[in-house]
Amino acid sequence: MILFKKATDLRKWVDAQSKKGNSIAFVPTMGALHAGHISLIDAASKENQVTISSIFVNPTQFNDLKDFEKYPITIEKDIEMLEAAGCNVLFLPSVKEIYPEGIKPEMQYELGYIETILEGKFRPGHFQGVCMVVHRLLDIVQPDNLYLGQKDYQQCMVISKLVELINQQDTIKVNICPTLREKDGLAMSSRNMRLNEDERKLAAIIYRCLSYIKEHTGKQSVNDIKKQTQSMLEEAGLRVDYVEIAEAKHLSPITTWDEKEKAVALIAAFMNEVRLIDNMLLN
Ligand code: AMP
Repeated sequence: MILFKKATDLRKWVDAQSKKGNSIAFVPTMGALHAGHISLIDAASKENQVTISSIFVNPTQFNDLKDFEKYPITIEKDIEMLEAAGCNVLFLPSVKEIYPEGIKPEMQYELGYIETILEGKFRPGHFQGVCMVVHRLLDIVQPDNLYLGQKDYQQCMVISKLVELINQQDTIKVNICPTLREKDGLAMSSRNMRLNEDERKLAAIIYRCLSYIKEHTGKQSVNDIKKQTQSMLEEAGLRVDYVEIAEAKHLSPITTWDEKEKAVALIAAFMNEVRLIDNMLLN
């Protein structure tokens, strides 16, 4: 695996690969890698000649300074995992390399409705930060295929919208990969490393709640299911940001079931200091 720290060096290398006709896959990450990240590398490597991953803990997408400061960093292990997975390139830039002109705080991306709900509502500015970093990374890497995890459902929608906003929808294909889970159903996440043993066990309630919603889809009122789920989470000791059942394409909330409409359940909740999110398609 080749490691690049400078955008210009990586750009030159990618140019040469593209000239050879090799298709370029890109898997952006914030590191502290787990099997979920590696599943994206696997999907990318199967479908492309060149797989590039990046590790960059992006300061502009953290609305909570403590969350940023405590974000796990395991770079040596990450490099080993990427190498073992057959990743061709790791881009490991500094903050200066990503934001050479400094961090400009003003809102820039017209994301519309998607930015005002769920994660957007509870983490103000988060998706602007995601767009800032992904836009810059896409400019540097210029991939043919971008690989994202369904684990971050709303983020997938935001990044797809970003690709349109920067007029790259005909050159960059967005591929969304399934969520990898632990044996008890907990979605793999870098933030799980911050949970102690008891918290880790209790956190699996999020998956059980999503499964509960799925089992009761169409059988009980949407409102009753949401209330029941909220109680289940609270009884397990979680502090709930939201339990939402939404239409899968645009994420507008659903109030009554409609068999023909694809729906998704989404949960965000704190286990003590650690904020966890997960989702499940319902039909
Ligand atoms: P992160 O390092 O958390 O920014 O995640 C980098 C990429 O990995 C994003 O596209 C995530 O959606 C994806 N990802 C995170 N967790 C999982 C998981 N459990 N299964 C599949 N993909 C994941």
